[in-house]
Amino acid sequence: STGLTLVATPIGNLGDLSPRALATLRSAAVVLCEDTRVTGAMLARHGVSVTMVPLHEHNEDDQTPRILDRLRAGERVALVSDAGTPLVSDPGYRLVRAAIAAGLPVGAIPGPNAAVMALTLSGLPPHPFLFLGFLPVKAGPRAAELARLRAVERAGLAASLIFYEAPHRLAETLAALAEAFGPERPAAVARELTKRFEEVRRGDLGSLAGYYGREAARGEIAIVVGPAPAETAGAAELDKSLRNALASGMS
Ligand code: SAM
Repeated sequence: STGLTLVATPIGNLGDLSPRALATLRSAAVVLCEDTRVTGAMLARHGVSVTMVPLHEHNEDDQTPRILDRLRAGERVALVSDAGTPLVSDPGYRLVRAAIAAGLPVGAIPGPNAAVMALTLSGLPPHPFLFLGFLPVKAGPRAAELARLRAVERAGLAASLIFYEAPHRLAETLAALAEAFGPERPAAVARELTKRFEEVRRGDLGSLAGYYGREAARGEIAIVVGPAPAETAGAAELDKSLRNALASGMS
């Protein structure tokens, strides 16, 4: 394929690099990546040697005009991130937007993504879902973000919620989620997906927060929170309108 191709790469198991991903990376004039060491090692394992250029949060805007020039010249440019699907909690969105705006072809080789894999293994409703990525690290902004989510749930959204989290923040984040959504809300913690110590722990936010408060978590983690129960989303509203209806009927 010509133009810019977004290439998904493994989230742990190297065997998950698809034949089409490999062929695209082999034939690229340049592979844009977050970290040339990480991608270089992955490509070396597959016997691919190709020019790599770093693209990350801090140089994406500077690099974009140069990359658009290469695309206009007809070069094949591939974009990967350290792991999984580019743009998903990873760089690339600004480049993609610029390429689309410039009328240049953009394609993708789909593949691994931790959020979708965690969702499908969580045992929680897969549809609708809302992908939130990383919550703010600081307690104040994190609580504010969770309060916004609760407000959207009170307005009627009943979606599974997917978060990414670092292992050393897992216990604190689960406690914050339990505080915001209630300890009884079903949830799952998916750890080290596709790797040797892959584990999905299912329960409710209270018990998961308790467990990871006692057991330090390791590795890469995605959290899935089940949807707000219909009763909670609607009951308060219904109560109020019933009371209003009764009150107006009685007056
Ligand atoms: N673009 C990636 C994707 O498609 O999943 C996500 C990149 S984001 C910077 C990295 C985070 O994704 C990790 O901190 C973790 O929360 C989650 N993650 C990545 N690989 C994972 C895995 N094998 N198991 C569980 N979570 C993973």
